[in-house]
Amino acid sequence: MAKNGLRVRFAPSPTGYLHVGGARTAIFNWLFARHNRGTFVLRIEDTDVERSTRESENSLVEDLRWLGVDWDEGPDVGGPRGPYRQSDRLEMYRREAETMVEAGVAYPCFCTDDVLEAKRKQAIDSGQSPHYDGTCRSLTPGEVAANRKAEVPEVIRFRVPDGVVGFRDLIRESIELPTDMVGDFVLLRSNGNPTYNFAAALDDHAMGITQVLRGEEHLPNTLRQILIYEALDLPIPQFGHLPLILAEDKSKLSKRHGASSVGELRAMGCLAGAVFNYLVLLGWSHPEEKEILAVGELIEHFTLDRISKSAAVYDRGKLRWMNGQYIRRTPVDELFETADGFFPTEIRETYDTRARRRMLELLHEKIDTLDDLNEKSIPFLNPPRLDDEAKAVLQTREARDVITALETALEQSAGEITAEEFKSAMKRIGKTTGQKGKALFFPIRAALTGSVHGPDLAGVAELKGRKTLLDLLRHARERDSSG
Ligand code: GLU
Repeated sequence: MAKNGLRVRFAPSPTGYLHVGGARTAIFNWLFARHNRGTFVLRIEDTDVERSTRESENSLVEDLRWLGVDWDEGPDVGGPRGPYRQSDRLEMYRREAETMVEAGVAYPCFCTDDVLEAKRKQAIDSGQSPHYDGTCRSLTPGEVAANRKAEVPEVIRFRVPDGVVGFRDLIRESIELPTDMVGDFVLLRSNGNPTYNFAAALDDHAMGITQVLRGEEHLPNTLRQILIYEALDLPIPQFGHLPLILAEDKSKLSKRHGASSVGELRAMGCLAGAVFNYLVLLGWSHPEEKEILAVGELIEHFTLDRISKSAAVYDRGKLRWMNGQYIRRTPVDELFETADGFFPTEIRETYDTRARRRMLELLHEKIDTLDDLNEKSIPFLNPPRLDDEAKAVLQTREARDVITALETALEQSAGEITAEEFKSAMKRIGKTTGQKGKALFFPIRAALTGSVHGPDLAGVAELKGRKTLLDLLRHARERDSSG
């Protein structure tokens, strides 16, 4: 499909895993691009050599793909404005930094880390903002040369002008930021690598990015990046700042609030579609407030005017609920491909693939994440793990009678026992024992599954098979008479 001129990007730093905040930024940019038939670019911001790893880049890429986010240009697929990995663009940043120094909008700084750190502490202690104090702002060419000769480590700093930067935010409308919010920031580190702000600003320009959508925490960076564009007399892309994502207690979302990376959500058995859908609702809403939305619908309706200005709350309960909705909407055969890996080892060793597929069918309505299969498949274990309620149920004489009656009924039937046959056996023993409802079903459930609650009993019975059923009934009866 022909693209129009809209170009957006997702620009992760490969220093860890893809977190829900980053994933939401990627998804919003992707939906914005797809809605407008624009171009979505993936750029890897790996200029922090100490913290960036290829392993992290690979896992980011894998998580994005899992979510269904694809890119038109990027390190792996190429494109006309590459390279798309910043470590392959270092020369360009260095050249540009030199030009900026020549033009006087940036300057070399020789302050050592120790001195900077001491001044920073001092500023904080005396209640001032810990900005660079400008020591090297006006070094003479002679002083610069002397420092270089003495091989003092050198960084290049941007000369932040006095004033106010104003821009029209795509989401929050008019924003004004005083430049003294930031000090003279570093463009090029002493190892010759650019800082995030410098590289991102140059690359957004070089890659023709027209809109930058990212989290609100980046506002001070937007200020720095606009200052760079102004100093270089370059066109400024439009910026849109997405609302923060907070934890349920309204604090900043962090590890202690539980699974907050895409990988963790996948590992606990969330479905990609559910995670995608849930993340879109962190700050965006459908015109009719619909919540379960297929990707096609999201693309159709995704406009920036429906992005909220106030913080979104990451509500794990709601994500679980939504995942449950997605699980139930997925046909069992399709779900089984992902779900099968979530059955515990004991189940996998006892039941073959066909039986496990049938088990999933019986549990389909009862799980919200695939991880729930761990617990929900307990009734299928042989022997079952009896819970306290089941133990109590099995104490009574009536329970023993019902169990004995079922044993007799099953012994009479030859061959395997289908769910239908099991049901009719239950009906028959209801008549012969005179028991019904809980008094009939609880002892049998307890004996066969270890609990008085659980999935469809006849379905469980069919999967366990005649011999196991008879063994379990006998065990329960013996256990009962001994205790
Ligand atoms: N690499 C930056 C980050 O991961 C990108 C921020 C931006 O979108 O400009 O936070």
